[in-house]
Amino acid sequence: MSLHIPFDNSYARLPDRFFARQGAAPATAPELLAFNAGLARELGIGFDEDPDALAAAFSGVALPDGAEPLAQAYAGHQFGGFSPKLGDGRALLLGEVLAPNGTRYDIQLKGSGRTPFSRNGDGKAWLGPVLREYVVSEAMHALGVPTTRALAAVATGDSVMRQAMLPGAVLTRVARSHLRIGTFQYFAVRNDIDALRTLTDYAIQRHYPQAKGPTGLLQSVIDAQVKLIPQWMALGFIHGVMNTDNSTISGETIDYGPCAFMDDYHPHKVFSSIDQQGRYAFSNQMHIVIWNLAQLASALVALAPEAEQDAVVEDYTQRIHAMPEALDAEWLRLLGRKVGIADARPEDKAMIDKLLDLMAHDGADFTNTFRALAEGTARDQFTNREAFDEWHAEWQKRTASEEDPQSLMASVNPVYIPRNHRIEQMIEAAVEGDLAPFKRLMKVLATPFTPQDGAEDLTHPPTDDEVVHRTFCG
Ligand code: AMP
Ligand code: MG
Ligand code: MG
Repeated sequence: MSLHIPFDNSYARLPDRFFARQGAAPATAPELLAFNAGLARELGIGFDEDPDALAAAFSGVALPDGAEPLAQAYAGHQFGGFSPKLGDGRALLLGEVLAPNGTRYDIQLKGSGRTPFSRNGDGKAWLGPVLREYVVSEAMHALGVPTTRALAAVATGDSVMRQAMLPGAVLTRVARSHLRIGTFQYFAVRNDIDALRTLTDYAIQRHYPQAKGPTGLLQSVIDAQVKLIPQWMALGFIHGVMNTDNSTISGETIDYGPCAFMDDYHPHKVFSSIDQQGRYAFSNQMHIVIWNLAQLASALVALAPEAEQDAVVEDYTQRIHAMPEALDAEWLRLLGRKVGIADARPEDKAMIDKLLDLMAHDGADFTNTFRALAEGTARDQFTNREAFDEWHAEWQKRTASEEDPQSLMASVNPVYIPRNHRIEQMIEAAVEGDLAPFKRLMKVLATPFTPQDGAEDLTHPPTDDEVVHRTFCG
């Protein structure tokens, strides 16, 4: 047996209306582009490195034994507008494994063909977004951010129609689950209380076994998301499509479509070509996560007994209203650490905000400025040097009492992030059949806090010709 996945498929045991069973589309000439052997081992997957067998399995051509492929049902608010029926239009959950670490993980193909939820889509993915998600999700993991992971990328040998005919590919994604806020909305809008209760119990058991009922679940998801979004932002990450169907119950980052790491800092930065209004701009992510959790709260209210509904609404409202303060506190804590303060106090906020203002004013590179602060060379990142010097004096005074600000900063401020222009260059090369830039990015981004020989160029912001202004869903 060249590939053994010890499936235990709990989602497939849920009621039929949670999903549609669906097989994968054929692929003409599956070719393995990448396989995450380390992750496979963590999951307890048995394999020998036979690329053809892996390509057949992870394109969907020869599904591994025990897979029960299905497309999950969900709804969601997309850019604020509600769609009662979205669902996996181009993804298939193959099943789950109980990993040796005791955690249950979904294994999902993305780009494996049409499903009953595809609407007008082709159910496919092209090579670019597949490699982009592979690189960025693995980089996020290495940066310490909860995220879905990439297990495999396979070229299908078929073309998909986008702006042009492009090479098709399938990504295998691993997640603690693919439950989303939109999964709850799907049943709430149908007033399917039985399903909503089943889903709630399932989510609690899978993610928050200590949580008591819908209220406990809501609070657990709030807590997880209140940790997650400031973590993105402390890395200059802009998700780009924070729709409620892309907001997980687990608190993992999901759906690397038009995401981007900022080069030059500005709080209103937007990259996604479809985000015309800047709804998901960098600093707005903090507000949107609250809005999204309010949608989860609204869905869960239906589970309260009639007589308790008013009280539950009141309680959920208070929990949502407590989010801004919790998010601000987490943001301050993380930003404090980025400037070498182990435990930032509210009175540090003005000093930290002043740095961000200077950075925005000068268009300083987000990643390199914080890293340079650790290395004593931050001044070079600014054009307005007098203003920086003034700030620097204030900062030195404050950090003088900190134990080891330099080491702290070096441990939280990465040297390397997956910069957009590098991703685009990597994709261009891959389309020409050259995977070397992909492999190089993967290698360097695996240890993003450690300077590496011969990788200096990957710290450079884009030149004027290289700047990527827009990103796409794929
Ligand atoms: P996303 O913006 O990637 O979160 O996707 C939103 C919805 O569109 C989900 O229901 C997806 O499954 C669906 N979708 C995205 N791309 C495609 C495609 N190429 N074919 C079918 N459905 C798609
Ligand atoms: Mg999505
Ligand atoms: Mg997407």
